[in-house]
Amino acid sequence: MSMRFAHKLLFSVVAFMSVSIGIILYLAITHEKSLISSIQRDNLRLVNSIIFDELYTSMRYGGGRKENRAIIKRLNSIEGIEEVRVIHGEPVERQFGVEEDEVPRDELEKIAIQGKEVMEEYTENGVRKVRFIMPLFVKEECLRCHRAKVGEVNGAISLTVSLDKYDAMVHEAIKRFIITSLILVGIVVLAAIAFILHYNVRPLAELYKAAKIIGSGNLDYRIDIKDGMEINRLVEEFNNMAQRLKERTDELIDLNRKLEAMSITDGLTGLYNHRYFYKRFAEELERAKRYDRRLSLIMADIDNFKHYNDTHGHQEGDVVLKGVAECIKNTLRVNDVPARYGGEEFAIILPETAKDTAVKVAERIRMEVEKKDFQGEEKQPGGSLTISIGVATFPDDGTTVDELVKKADEALYRAKRKGRNRVEAV
Ligand code: GH3
Ligand code: MG
Ligand code: MG
Repeated sequence: MSMRFAHKLLFSVVAFMSVSIGIILYLAITHEKSLISSIQRDNLRLVNSIIFDELYTSMRYGGGRKENRAIIKRLNSIEGIEEVRVIHGEPVERQFGVEEDEVPRDELEKIAIQGKEVMEEYTENGVRKVRFIMPLFVKEECLRCHRAKVGEVNGAISLTVSLDKYDAMVHEAIKRFIITSLILVGIVVLAAIAFILHYNVRPLAELYKAAKIIGSGNLDYRIDIKDGMEINRLVEEFNNMAQRLKERTDELIDLNRKLEAMSITDGLTGLYNHRYFYKRFAEELERAKRYDRRLSLIMADIDNFKHYNDTHGHQEGDVVLKGVAECIKNTLRVNDVPARYGGEEFAIILPETAKDTAVKVAERIRMEVEKKDFQGEEKQPGGSLTISIGVATFPDDGTTVDELVKKADEALYRAKRKGRNRVEAV
């Protein structure tokens, strides 16, 4: 999960940076071009002025058409200058006549001779060139030799230069810019990845791992990250959630234990209930059969309990039930299973116990109850509150749950018939 997240993040960062660099590059190149154009215009205007000055100086000292042609020829041989041309305007034409190479050659020169500065960029044989045509206006000082009016266009100078060098420089600058940008982007991307991995992906991976571990049942697992910034809060909340989950689960386990205990316990006496008695008795009987052991069952019933209830009320009767249960619990061994079978009847499972021992245990219980002081028991028939007990043993008296319960019950009723407060075995 986390790696896919990291890939997406990395992709987003790289894409974002690339688009940004593209835009920056585009703006830089466009800006560079217009900047170069305006610098060129200034430069060419300056060069044109210098050319004019040269021509003017020559003319001032008596130079004529011949000298001017020599100057132009010399200028044309300078490296970087593609072409220098002088176009003659109408005042010159009027005064000195015009030769073929001095008339405007194309539209641009015609425009220039009207008094307008012209600049044109074009590519010839793969080389970028720029041509600048500057009109020459008649000034006061020209009137010494020229018959013209101040402000008239006397001619124009057309200067064409190659942009090869400039283009190479621009390309070099752009190349350097791209390389520098790529290095910077690389550094930024690496730093971003390291940052994201450390502060986001690692905590996320930890969260994922922790969720899996806790989900698999280890509620004690916690995440130990303190440097994840915003994700810290998530981690903290996650740990809190895990803590609450653990507490709730502990509570539920505890509650479940209590409910389980309640579901098998008799509320009044604290002994096991009827349902649990049957379940446990079946299990113990199975075990006895499997390991070829004895197993005894005691059934006990309070004597003349109706009489006690009628005399003292049901609440006092309940106290007696609890007291009898106490006597049973106090007499038994740890492996014995005492249960309240019904109203005032008790059933006790005695695993690994033969009949003679079971009868002895029953006898001890009977004596405990007889000995115990119960409120108002002197009003009972016989002057004391007592119980009668029947004992049955596996495998001697039966091999099934029902058979053994029935036999123990029969023995119990025999005890009743024989006068109560006694133990009868099958
Ligand atoms: P016997 O000696 O033959 O057993 O006589 P008995 O009076 O004990 O027998 P009987 O079956 O006539 O009456 C049982 C009485 O037990 C009836 C009922 O009021 C009482 N009893 C059953 N369950 C409870 C109980 O939970 N609390 C109280 N207080 N009395 C109960
Ligand atoms: Mg009874
Ligand atoms: Mg009874």
